[in-house]
Amino acid sequence: MEHTPAERINWQASGNEHFTGSVSNGPLSRAADRSLTALAVMFQPGARSDWHSHPDGQVLYITSGAGRVQTEDGQTVNVSAGDVVYTPPGEKHWHGASETSHMMHLSLTTGGATEWLPGKVSDEDYRR
Ligand code: MN
Repeated sequence: MEHTPAERINWQASGNEHFTGSVSNGPLSRAADRSLTALAVMFQPGARSDWHSHPDGQVLYITSGAGRVQTEDGQTVNVSAGDVVYTPPGEKHWHGASETSHMMHLSLTTGGATEWLPGKVSDEDYRR
């Protein structure tokens, strides 16, 4: 068994190349296991990812706070702790916090790297 106390999770800034606002992520899966990427991701209020998709899809499990997930067709869902969102392979989407709350989710993906689309999520799309 390997126990990592919460304060020893290796949180790192997600940077602004693919995100707007303050976002950090903590790896949860073992580095040696390349078949699964399990990340805790923390978005501060107003922060969100850029538009992107995942080759094998993605499971998001909201662990605290409130946020939103939007797909290219304009569908937007408001999410809060305990909710699960699945985006199928190749579906273009973004996820982030609401304007007034942080949002933390667990992200589960397989199949390799996120496919990022050019450009940021505009304030207009974010509020849509
Ligand atoms: Mn995603």
